[in-house]
Amino acid sequence: MIDLERERARMVEAHLQRRGITDPAVVAAFRRVPREEFVPRDLVEFAYEDTPLPISAGQTISQPYIVAVTVDALGLRGGERVLEVGTGSGYAAAVLGHLAKDVYTIERIENLADSARARLSRLGYANVHVIHGDGTLGWPEHAPYDAIAVAAGGPKAPPALLSQLTLGGRLVMPIGPDESSQVLVRITREGDTEYREEPLADVQFVPLIGEQGWKDTPGRIVVPSRTERRAGLGALVRETAEPIDDVETASLDGLLDRIADSRVVLIGEATHGTSEFYRMRARITKELISRRGFRFVAVEADWPDAARIDDYVLGGKRRSRLEFTPLARFPTWMWRNVEVHAFVEWLRAHNAEHADQKAGFHGLDLYSLFTSIAAVLSYLDEVDPAAARVARHRYGALTPWQKDPAAYGEAVLVGRYESSEPAVVAMLRDMLERRLEYARQDGERFFDAAQNARLVADAERYYRSVYYGSAASWNLRDAHMFETLKALFAFYGPGAKGVVWEHNSHVGDASATEMSARGEQNVGQMCRAAFGEDAYLIGFGTDHGTVAAASNWDEPMQRMQVRPARPGSYERAFHDAGLPAWGLHLREPRRRAVRDELLPPLLERAIGVVYRPETELASHYFKASLPRQFDEYLWFDETRAVEPLEQAPRAEPDQLPDTYPFGV
Ligand code: SAM
Repeated sequence: MIDLERERARMVEAHLQRRGITDPAVVAAFRRVPREEFVPRDLVEFAYEDTPLPISAGQTISQPYIVAVTVDALGLRGGERVLEVGTGSGYAAAVLGHLAKDVYTIERIENLADSARARLSRLGYANVHVIHGDGTLGWPEHAPYDAIAVAAGGPKAPPALLSQLTLGGRLVMPIGPDESSQVLVRITREGDTEYREEPLADVQFVPLIGEQGWKDTPGRIVVPSRTERRAGLGALVRETAEPIDDVETASLDGLLDRIADSRVVLIGEATHGTSEFYRMRARITKELISRRGFRFVAVEADWPDAARIDDYVLGGKRRSRLEFTPLARFPTWMWRNVEVHAFVEWLRAHNAEHADQKAGFHGLDLYSLFTSIAAVLSYLDEVDPAAARVARHRYGALTPWQKDPAAYGEAVLVGRYESSEPAVVAMLRDMLERRLEYARQDGERFFDAAQNARLVADAERYYRSVYYGSAASWNLRDAHMFETLKALFAFYGPGAKGVVWEHNSHVGDASATEMSARGEQNVGQMCRAAFGEDAYLIGFGTDHGTVAAASNWDEPMQRMQVRPARPGSYERAFHDAGLPAWGLHLREPRRRAVRDELLPPLLERAIGVVYRPETELASHYFKASLPRQFDEYLWFDETRAVEPLEQAPRAEPDQLPDTYPFGV
């Protein structure tokens, strides 16, 4: 059972307060109105998603955040008389009922007016009065109004409504030149015929139909119901998507043409353990390297671990003398699997054949604090033993925390342990200052060591930030990954092109997802800001099948069943389209309508290294606008788990063979 009260509190916090709705009276009103009473019974589980939902007659109950922006802009203090046009379900009228003395609301569809009236009366809203009629003409009997909210989009503010405002009264309404999109504006009456207009937000409302709104022509397009919309979307996807018959042989010419001269191609994955995603990602990357001159792959793995693979694919020369077992920390299956191994072998063979076009393999992540410390020390021992002694001293305060660096962060935070920040930052600065001297001996080895020193400084901050909450540590981690990517571009030189492999949640533009409401940014968003259209973002999705994941962090890998996608998700809509595998261009698709249909946010699923099917909605679904998140989306309806290299029971990290990727 969903705890709706808790969901309501969460919705108010995450979608209203964190997005700037702070008036305590407005917040309290949203906390009191049970939105589940205003949505159709089969959609109750989505009542506290920040999204419009279909009600009957092809109409919608508005998105809570947009209702909040509207209500907030009306500036109510409690004694006002308010008119609402477009009662719909009655939800916004109920919110207004908590904030004003009297609310008069008009609905043009009689059935909706009747059921809203009955609902509001049942819920005890005695100060909310509903009539059936054309709201563009207002409700003159009760005029003038201190505030008017219009919940449907019109070509201009109806003169009848403007004339029913008190002096100083505010009207908030979506206005746009056609019926497909509008700007929410606030109009304040400043004199008999003077009005001041301010834009508030870009919005998309159902049309305001009436004498002073859009005309009700017989050929009018009625907003389709959710089911109809999904069916229409399925047809559009079937017409527009490029089928993938076989991962190994599907033509990627269209995709490569669209990628064109992009400098960075980011390829996401909807899970950290799905074979199809890994194989398709490898296939695209091979084409980019061999046909488009891409110079490196940067992945969601730690720098020193990927550096070992980089050595291997470049022909086996070991740049660091450091002894350790790469890719041995949880989750081992994420990189130690048959799919990645095949790619690594391909890359080594490619590099052997194309000495002038070698491509590298690098890690962007920052979980290797201690391996990176060891790498810096081992480097300095060789090139500058005096500096190595200083480094040992500076890094020394971190070594007791090897087993649990997060405990270090907590100890510093509560004042039980001194922060190593000044020491690790000084170490990085010293190394960068001596860049010329060190690089003269071996530029590649210096780059590797400097990246490790940078990683130590960022990881130290990261572990201290974990206790400030997820947004702070998430942002530090993604900023580190982006800085590492920039360092790679600088290292490879002007015009170099690279591929990034990470989870969809790092690759898909966070500003198009609910991550942005939490203040989280990611690598995809930073790449778009830095590279503009030269960043090409690709996402993956699936409906059902198996996946390699664990039930909890640090627990053994299991081959788990992926539940079929939930109603109200992109995945469900794509499953309903009925095609097994395809790619869909989202930036400028052949049929523009497919992008438009996909723009309004839906749920999207993300499975990481931990999968908890039993709490899937809360743990794995989030809201996103897919065409804004990705430039291209690849779909595999049914998928299977990656195949780990070691099927042996999970070993302690140092028992794993030290041979990967050399001798499997
Ligand atoms: N405020 C509503 C809620 O909270 O459920 C949502 C309203 S819905 C987005 C817009 C409503 O405006 C629809 O129910 C539509 O029938 C109604 N509408 C459109 N034109 C109208 C008009 N001229 N007069 C009254 N209602 C109108």
